[in-house]
Amino acid sequence: MTLHKGASPSDRKQSGHPVNPFYGEADPIAGMETSPPRHALPDGPLSPHTAYQFVHDELMLDGNSRLNLATFVTTWMEPQAAVLMAECRDKNMIDKDEYPRTAELEKRCVAMLADLWHAPDPAAAVGCSTTGSSEACMLAGMALKRRWMQRNQDRYPGKARPNLIMGANVQVCWEKFCNFWEVEARTVPMEGDRFHLDAPSAAALCDENTIGVVAILGSTFDGSYEPVAEICAALDEVQRQHGWDIPVHVDGASGAMIAPFLDPELVWDFRLPRVASINTSGHKYGLVYPGVGWALWRDTDALPEELVFRVNYLGGDMPTFALNFSRPGAQVAAQYYTFLRLGRAGFRAVQQATRDVARSMAERIGALDDFTLLTQGDQLPVFAFTTAGHVTAFDVFDVSRRLKERGWLIPAYTFPENREDLSVLRVVCRNGFSLDLADLFLADLEALLPELRDQPGPMQRPESVATAFHH
Ligand SMILES: *Cc1c(COP(=O)(O)O)cnc(C)c1O
Repeated sequence: MTLHKGASPSDRKQSGHPVNPFYGEADPIAGMETSPPRHALPDGPLSPHTAYQFVHDELMLDGNSRLNLATFVTTWMEPQAAVLMAECRDKNMIDKDEYPRTAELEKRCVAMLADLWHAPDPAAAVGCSTTGSSEACMLAGMALKRRWMQRNQDRYPGKARPNLIMGANVQVCWEKFCNFWEVEARTVPMEGDRFHLDAPSAAALCDENTIGVVAILGSTFDGSYEPVAEICAALDEVQRQHGWDIPVHVDGASGAMIAPFLDPELVWDFRLPRVASINTSGHKYGLVYPGVGWALWRDTDALPEELVFRVNYLGGDMPTFALNFSRPGAQVAAQYYTFLRLGRAGFRAVQQATRDVARSMAERIGALDDFTLLTQGDQLPVFAFTTAGHVTAFDVFDVSRRLKERGWLIPAYTFPENREDLSVLRVVCRNGFSLDLADLFLADLEALLPELRDQPGPMQRPESVATAFHH
């Protein structure tokens, strides 16, 4: 989470605003002529009604999540899912012996994913729920590192430094993994119009200390799928030449819940023997509200037994693999609900509708003279675009800022090393973003263009305008 500082002197100043008398109880609230301090615990309690209004009113200033085209994370679920989640919010996922049915639903979700991702022997596959893909990637990375350590006990620690190969377009969780677990991040920079990892560059960086290669389905930068099968084939060749047997982890945070339904002929999963593990975010295209991810290993060989903990003091002896201990059970129940509710055909229909919206929007934006598409929204339902070469009056940051005036949240950002010259806008379509909303978006964009074209040049951009996109 954001690393926050304590209250500054100006934070600590009492605001002095009177409490809205309408929020209070029938009698005047003792000592509440002014609003409570915001950065220190108030001396006394408030009534639940007044406290609710305070918090509720402040949160009104957050953006409208449904208009947030920056995030991959689910912003709409059915009312029944919300009811189910409310029913489970007091259940702690770790208390597997106390809440055996919640644990059972988690197990069934793992089994469904193992089947969906073509584990050769679904009964041998192992997996767990997590707080999201970031935790899942940490776990997968730890398994890769431990397997490499087991093979290199004579050289590590001491003589060798482990490395992990990935594209420069990786999500920040992989930089975190390498930093926290002291693994060298070997990143393949973008090159010209190649915005993600390719097989020859991945293979070229391998050596005997490579713990694995991360392939992303699909890239958060532009929604493109990385060529997982080609990367595996290149690593087969590396093994033939050097004897290094380098496993692949597929970061399917988004795509592992898109490709199985919309691109069934694309071979990216456990059908490739080199794919050791896969993660996904249940709270992205798994269609569940934030707080759930999944990590799966093709079999127990891919997950060293020594990383698995058995916690017996809660009464059970359930094996667990997690960074957290306590965690809400509601998201797991909601994931099972979503699997049950939609089935394969339902998922296919929902994801297809989302991708249709993305493609249609991309096509219409690409048809405008002012913009050039980087991707078409035909892999992840995500596309990136930039201003056309001849546009000098405005830049992507201006477009992002002006769209925000109409309530649309579209991030503009600069690409990483080697293509820092390229700045783009990215649109993430999700379930609940309908063609009707897309029409309204296009209408707003087109209405802004005459003013943007009339600008004398791009507005000066303070660094903070480059909005966050690492979702
Ligand atoms: C979103 C994302 C992550 C991080 O996932 P969280 O569920 O937000 O923790 C990791 N990798 C990729 C490719 C992503 O898109």
